[in-house]
Amino acid sequence: HAPATFRTLLENSRFHGDKVFVVYEDERITYEDHYRLAATLANRLVTDYGVRKGDRVAIAMRNYPEWIIAFSAVLAAGAVAVPLNAWWTERELRYGLSDSGATLLIADGERADRLAGARLPAIVVRGDGANWADVVGEAAADVTLPPVDLDPEDSATIFYTSGTTGRPKGALGSHRNLCQAPMTVAYAMTRGAALAGRDPAQVATVRRITLLTVPLFHATGCFAVLLPTMFSGNGLVLMYRWEPRRALELIERERVTVMSGVPTNAWQLLSHPSLRDYDISSLGSVSYGGAPAPPKLLERITRLLPDRTPVNGYGMTETTALAIYNSGPDYLARPDSIGVPLAVIDVKVVDPAGVELPAGQVGELCVRGPVVIKGYWNRPDATAEVLVNGWLHTGDLARIDADGFVYIVDRAKDMVIRGGENVYCAEVEAALFEHPAVDDAAVIGVPDEELGEQVGAVVLVKPGAETTAEDLQEFLRERIAPFKVPVRFWFRDTELPRNPGGKVLKTLLRREALGR
Ligand code: ATP
Ligand code: MG
Repeated sequence: HAPATFRTLLENSRFHGDKVFVVYEDERITYEDHYRLAATLANRLVTDYGVRKGDRVAIAMRNYPEWIIAFSAVLAAGAVAVPLNAWWTERELRYGLSDSGATLLIADGERADRLAGARLPAIVVRGDGANWADVVGEAAADVTLPPVDLDPEDSATIFYTSGTTGRPKGALGSHRNLCQAPMTVAYAMTRGAALAGRDPAQVATVRRITLLTVPLFHATGCFAVLLPTMFSGNGLVLMYRWEPRRALELIERERVTVMSGVPTNAWQLLSHPSLRDYDISSLGSVSYGGAPAPPKLLERITRLLPDRTPVNGYGMTETTALAIYNSGPDYLARPDSIGVPLAVIDVKVVDPAGVELPAGQVGELCVRGPVVIKGYWNRPDATAEVLVNGWLHTGDLARIDADGFVYIVDRAKDMVIRGGENVYCAEVEAALFEHPAVDDAAVIGVPDEELGEQVGAVVLVKPGAETTAEDLQEFLRERIAPFKVPVRFWFRDTELPRNPGGKVLKTLLRREALGR
């Protein structure tokens, strides 16, 4: 009897047979199709490409169905899947390939062209003349997975972090980590249903169709959406690229029940002028995570889609996605909280010396549990910094209230230190968001001779609205302490630069605003 690994998940998914797993444009892939294609490719990886247990195989693609098949095949063959960010430039993609030591690349035409000079065997799909059927061949009904001895502690994935605080680091996840991810999500949904006064037993019987609005190469898309879908035999609708109008069309066409992504996705969908032209009555919940959700997003959901369950999930690449979760009535009662830790996850907040702090005090958030990664690929120093006695130090500043609800105050590095006084950017941003003319805002540190740093803000004003620095300062002085009020403002008329994970690129903003 083999211990549970991704192979178990894949083999069990076959029980869902003719049910549709993946929808992309006009293509529909059933669970049986997916199993056969993945198993056939897994065998070809071993026999034709010499892939062995532990080898790294990079995947560089948009959210095509082939991404999912490639991912399943690589893991089933016992190799380590290395999903690369499809928006990366050639240089960044090459960094991912060399950092991971990948020996094979599975790419779409666009990425293959971008990497044309890389000397690495490649399997190309959705490109000129490239045909998936040529790659996979005839997927026989009786195909079985290639034999390989896998243990739950064996490495399964290397996902790169967003790199918002430095160079992206390869988070090394085990088979145990990824098998746990669907459990935390299932727990979150059962608990969410019970909270909302619905029968939790329905969670397992009502077919769920999720619209995936974020990339599969980030932890959220893969671990919080793809794997739980696969595990429970539900359906996943893919998009060529995120586009709010296309999302509305797909929700109507596929009777989507869950929309899942980063806060920006939900915000753009709900702000779309054509929102009312589509029948989105199938949508039961609007869930998001991966980046701070502005309180006005929740307000907008309650106003425009009053009977839908809003969900805010907190997680990191290092926690194999979802770890802490707020939904429904809990979330409405505490709109600024990311909720409570999910089953099997412990949390605590510590001071800089690592000493646990009492309820209500702000310190670094630490997470423990079977979803926490093994470490960073090839970076023992970085690993030792964040993994201390089984606790993952998240780099986020948080407090936990007496009822166990967690509040992210800011990222440890996204803080302005003004004359020794900490100003949490997220707090100032939240206050700015309350101003009716503000569409988007980001707070940055501005070098200051006297104070070390001063507070600055980059603001996107709503179309047609008007405001000035003085107006905003006056507004903020009623809400936050004077030392937190930005002394410099930059107004822009284009969207703030964000990464595909929905996070504002502050390094870039600082460079634009300060010319450095
Ligand atoms: P890097 O570590 O390379 O700088 P990153 O931390 O942005 O990149 P991810 O692992 O994608 O990479 O993001 C995890 C971070 O996202 C968390 O540490 C937290 O700061 C933020 N985050 C995730 N979910 C939420 C949420 N629901 N609310 C607020 N912040 C969130
Ligand atoms: Mg991080």
